[in-house]
Amino acid sequence: MENGQTESDPKDLLFEKHVNYVTNHGNDKNDFEYTMTEFLRMSGIYWGTTCLDIMGELDKLDKLSIIGFIKKCQCIKSGGISACEEHDPHLLYTLSAIQILCTYNALDEIDVASVGKYVQSLQQPDGSFFGDKWGEIDTRFSFCAVAILALTNQMDLIDVDKAVEFVLSCGNVDGGFGSKPNAESHAGLIYCCVGFLSITHNLHRLETEKLAWWLCERQLKSGGLNGRPEKLPDVCYSWWVLSSLTIMGRSHWISGEKLKEFILSCQDTETGGFSDRPGNLPDIFHTLFGIGALSLLGYPNLKKINPTFCMPEEIVEKLYKVQIMDS
Ligand SMILES: [Zn+2]
Repeated sequence: MENGQTESDPKDLLFEKHVNYVTNHGNDKNDFEYTMTEFLRMSGIYWGTTCLDIMGELDKLDKLSIIGFIKKCQCIKSGGISACEEHDPHLLYTLSAIQILCTYNALDEIDVASVGKYVQSLQQPDGSFFGDKWGEIDTRFSFCAVAILALTNQMDLIDVDKAVEFVLSCGNVDGGFGSKPNAESHAGLIYCCVGFLSITHNLHRLETEKLAWWLCERQLKSGGLNGRPEKLPDVCYSWWVLSSLTIMGRSHWISGEKLKEFILSCQDTETGGFSDRPGNLPDIFHTLFGIGALSLLGYPNLKKINPTFCMPEEIVEKLYKVQIMDS
């Protein structure tokens, strides 16, 4: 077998271990990892809550302290939300915070209207979005912007047509998308752009067949998926590639059985959690995307996940109707 996979790799989901791994993650405020990840703490909480919710164990986390933390991270001036208290707000963390609040049905705990104004303030004349006041442009931020506005029912605050034109201008001849016009195709950014088009109901603008081919060529002999040609497989790409194919109604173009084997071989049998590939250390990011991809593959005893928002389908259903292509 390749990429560190061995015959003794787990063949089933180590349910209890993952629940413990996620529940205890970041509990010790003195631990190195907790300090190190301050700059993405809000996303870390989103990865953890979503992961537990998909496993039906959300009540293992302290809802009130999580909501209290989010309230402290909203900037009074701009309305945006930061990764952590006293950091600058950013669209990435604003989306994570909104996703967590939706999961807890607690959007009214923050000033949602000023979140909308924050997103609106970051749209540029060409339709693109700055990630924050520092002015970096990336298709990831276009996705965050429409995802936040969709979940909070404020889409009319931006120029959606211009936003769509910008994302389409980042398309490449291979059918994929990059971070900005003329940037190389990359599965993570393809997810953002396909997700963006799913939210704005513009999937017909994709070169579906060409893009689906590019995506299914990401599957390697090990069953795992990579993010670009010539790269190693990685559990998070199981999510970016499979969710894109699912939105496009083409998830059956790859071998789900082989992918499931690869993902299961990335579990840490001692501590719980998933790593990027077999034998590496687990982390909360790859744990969510491993479990999320297994949910898309129909793994038993996991809640159905929405491929566009990476949140339980039952929550998204109540808030927004995404566009999904027929298979
Ligand atoms: Zn990864």
